[in-house]
Amino acid sequence: MAASIPSGTVSVRMYRGILGDCFLLRHEEQGEEVKYILIDCGVLQGVSNARERMRDIVSDIRQTTGGTLDLLVVTHEHHDHLSGFQYEAERFKTFTVREFWLAWTEDPNDATAIELRRHFDKSRDTVAALASHPVMQALGKDDGRIRSVLGLSAFLGLDNGNRPTGASTLKMLKELATPARTRYLQPGQVVRPTRIAGLKTYVMGPPRDTASLRRDAPRKGAAKEVYLSRQEDANALDLRLAQLNDTPICAEDLPFAAPHRRPLNNVAALNPKQYTLTQKLYYDPKAASRKIDDEWYSSAETLALKMDSDTNNTSLVLAFELPDGQVLLFPGDAQVGNWLSWSAQTYPTTPDPTPGPAVTADDILARVSLYKVGHHCSHNATLRELGLEKMTSPRLVAMIPVVTEVAVKNQWNMPYPDLYQALKQKTCERVIIGDSVFEQERKIFEQNARALQPPITVDYHPKGLWVEVRISFGQGGT
Ligand SMILES: [Zn+2]
Repeated sequence: MAASIPSGTVSVRMYRGILGDCFLLRHEEQGEEVKYILIDCGVLQGVSNARERMRDIVSDIRQTTGGTLDLLVVTHEHHDHLSGFQYEAERFKTFTVREFWLAWTEDPNDATAIELRRHFDKSRDTVAALASHPVMQALGKDDGRIRSVLGLSAFLGLDNGNRPTGASTLKMLKELATPARTRYLQPGQVVRPTRIAGLKTYVMGPPRDTASLRRDAPRKGAAKEVYLSRQEDANALDLRLAQLNDTPICAEDLPFAAPHRRPLNNVAALNPKQYTLTQKLYYDPKAASRKIDDEWYSSAETLALKMDSDTNNTSLVLAFELPDGQVLLFPGDAQVGNWLSWSAQTYPTTPDPTPGPAVTADDILARVSLYKVGHHCSHNATLRELGLEKMTSPRLVAMIPVVTEVAVKNQWNMPYPDLYQALKQKTCERVIIGDSVFEQERKIFEQNARALQPPITVDYHPKGLWVEVRISFGQGGT
């Protein structure tokens, strides 16, 4: 006879009204103490009342958990997943963090991680410096590419000195958890939170291989795949930045040798008749379309976009398995390359065996009851055939942490209409979104969740601060 499956519930609380992730999980199992897991805590820069909202959110976390987190997870180093820890640092310092999980990409002793970081940091510093430059700020209004850089730089999170804040926030959290309790997870591992033995966790990403980490776009024929040399873009922008700042540029950094350079200064004082041939061509209105003066805007945009998706691809992807086999999938903001890598291994991997049979990514996806939609429901952070279409459980529920108004303001297509439709269809309209008219959302959800056994229910904070999906396991919950 099969051993009886323990019963209980996991409640997933999504904080609303932020473009960012902040998820509080409450684990209740028969005969066990209630346990809490916090996955990310951030709001995007530029969201109105972001700080006040975050204060309310952290108050709620504090009140609900009594100040003890059995597990803290940070998926990746983006402001919209981290800023709450920074804004409310003083309050978080009073929390007890029993255990802290991060991706291997954050491991200070991992050689590949160190190398990745070195590349990222240079590009990140360049984008940060550009985004905060007064000339860029002024140009931004008129050029879509610059507006895009400024928008993307909001994910970096900059302090008063315009330095990225992610690293210092992570350091603070590691100190809070004490180093001995911080774990850097590898893809293929199967782990359990020390305090929640009943919660088997499959580590699906980020992948170890750099090609996967850099792949951010779907494959639609090779021409559609983007592989850019970040380093060259960063160097070109550094030059432009030096020019903007009137800092002397080292001669060997310039693209042309001295005999081929023509200064443009003082040209205004000349009579056009005195122009050299080059100057004539340069100022000929008919040749205006051939000018490349503003091309660096595109480099800036490309670099910012690429950095943004590269960081998203370092997202720690966790699949929590409940004792009856249901899975809660938290992919952070993983993009195409990260998703594709999940099936590159079985769980557990052979070098790191954990008792129990190895399972495949497909098997895990087929049992997903709750999908935290990746990257605020953007077009390239939920795979179709190899992702959502493999989530075949009739119990599937989706939660989207997005505020459409803020996304629109930044010209991001979130939630991406086709994906949003597909989610509604796959979940029988059981989709929860961070900016819904929640009375209406509750009605639709409840109607479509009525038949589920063991039950899945939804609950809202009276003022809409959060929404909570409660998933029962075993014989129908506690
Ligand atoms: Zn995000």
